Amino acid sequence: MVLGATLENMARRHSESALYPRLAKWLKSSYGCFATRINIGLVHSRVDVLGVRDVGGDLSGEVETIAIEVKRGRQPFATTSGQTRGYAVYADRVYLADVRDKDFTRNEMDIASALGIGLIQIAPRVCREVLSSPPHRPIPRLQLRVFEKMGYGRCCICQTLFPVGGCERDYDFRNLSRAGIVKAAKNKKGFLFWNMTVGQRKRQDDAENGSSHERRFVCSDCVANLFPPTTGRTSTKK
Ligand SMILES: [Zn+2]
Repeated sequence: MVLGATLENMARRHSESALYPRLAKWLKSSYGCFATRINIGLVHSRVDVLGVRDVGGDLSGEVETIAIEVKRGRQPFATTSGQTRGYAVYADRVYLADVRDKDFTRNEMDIASALGIGLIQIAPRVCREVLSSPPHRPIPRLQLRVFEKMGYGRCCICQTLFPVGGCERDYDFRNLSRAGIVKAAKNKKGFLFWNMTVGQRKRQDDAENGSSHERRFVCSDCVANLFPPTTGRTSTKK
């Protein structure tokens, strides 16, 4: 009864957004996410909490994204579950996190399993994973936009996800040089270039005005290893 009252107070006191940092912290401690963001606005929806973690072992830069829909325990379960499942177009795993003092019911667990979503119980002091999310197959172009919104981009050489800039504003590429790969190597930066061929193929407008939206990234490690800056000394030896 006391616990129930505490949870009721918690749900009343806190807006959903006040709970986001707790879930972001849970993503770091439970999934080992190296980057988390809250309340990310995307073209088709807004995701409450997002995290990215490395899953490629020692041999690849593969990553996995986890999205969480946060609720305060008052909305119809099937509706919120459906909303959570919609995140699978962006994320590899999706969770519904709900404030509640009692366990999820068998019906709720069955609905979540049928829809392929995980469940997290938000208690006063702890977030508890009740049901794991199975992996999904997000739409690549939507997931890449999520990465960009988080301030990350995929290196088109080594495929690693790396920070290209900030996430406070859109299209912030402050970590990348746009002045050619030689300059990028000299400044120990990553590199950004525009693929004109694909740009013109996809957009007729670009073909007309000679511009492209097709941005490609190369991380600073690939720049440094493949295009080492010259020392300034010249040699006649081959
Ligand atoms: Zn790279």
